Amino acid sequence: MEFRSHKLTAEMLDPESGETIRTGIEVRVDPLTGHSSRIVPERGLMPSGDFDLAAFARENQPRCPFCPERIEHLTPKLPPAIDPDGRILRGEAVLFPNLHAYSSHSCVSIYSSRLHYLPLEDMTERLFGDNLATQVAYAKAVQALDPHSRWASINANHMLPAGSSLFHPHLQGIVDSQPTTLQRLLADVPPARFSSYLKAERDAGVRYLGDTGRIEWLASFAPIAPAELRAFVGGVSSPAQLDEDLIAELAHGLTLALNAYAEMGFESFNLALYGAPPGLDGYPLNLRLACRSNLAPFYRSDSTFLERLHWEGAIDLPPEAVAERIGGRFRE
Ligand SMILES: [Zn+2]
Repeated sequence: MEFRSHKLTAEMLDPESGETIRTGIEVRVDPLTGHSSRIVPERGLMPSGDFDLAAFARENQPRCPFCPERIEHLTPKLPPAIDPDGRILRGEAVLFPNLHAYSSHSCVSIYSSRLHYLPLEDMTERLFGDNLATQVAYAKAVQALDPHSRWASINANHMLPAGSSLFHPHLQGIVDSQPTTLQRLLADVPPARFSSYLKAERDAGVRYLGDTGRIEWLASFAPIAPAELRAFVGGVSSPAQLDEDLIAELAHGLTLALNAYAEMGFESFNLALYGAPPGLDGYPLNLRLACRSNLAPFYRSDSTFLERLHWEGAIDLPPEAVAERIGGRFRE
């Protein structure tokens, strides 16, 4: 498999000396979906901040519906056909319907009612594994009840400014008859292309982080978002097919990645685990994980006209540098 890229050069005159300045830009094409992305020289687009996110969280806590004083009477319950108790519990994780539904089956699951603030360095395999387990149980229950809802995804807008309307950290599940755009594009990728892509990344080594057993991790060649990582779970195509071992393995890899983000100075992330219909032959269940800009007065959003309206990443963290920074954790 060929990794396609185009090298561009921008030329301008230095405002003081009048000398010619040349800037290199690399346009890369994602081998799976054909999305392109612009890798630009390091220019501090994603600074680590000193904003006091914990203080922000405390300020917001008295109104939070997911905290222990309010969760029981402010969060909705699942219909009995999905779960007779109205909520799916695992360890400290609690899953309930999303009051603001995005699909015919839309849910929220918190890591713990007591964790209104959960910085990335405090994420643990237990917290993530239990939360994933509630999402998997939900997807299974919904698909058993409503066979048309074949498309399941597990997602996260973790804290601000990842897009969360509620500060309290949680995952969001969507189980629907209609795929999202990326679910559709990924499900249309011929199975052989997934295996060629993974083999090419394994051979190249520069973006390959490692495998955690049955799950392979790498930094995206053409990232949509900063410090973007991808993981591929062979042999299953839907979150509803994840067994206890795979849930634990996925939680292990996600925790390694999030702890690494914390070390790199990032505070929030987005996650999408793109499920296809269960049993879709040759489709490896796969995810994207990426960090978001840190809050600060006059901070720069990482979501610009390029990302939102051109579907084009503009990234100043080279994927190879991200892999070098994070890969060691996956090889220990
Ligand atoms: Zn809360």
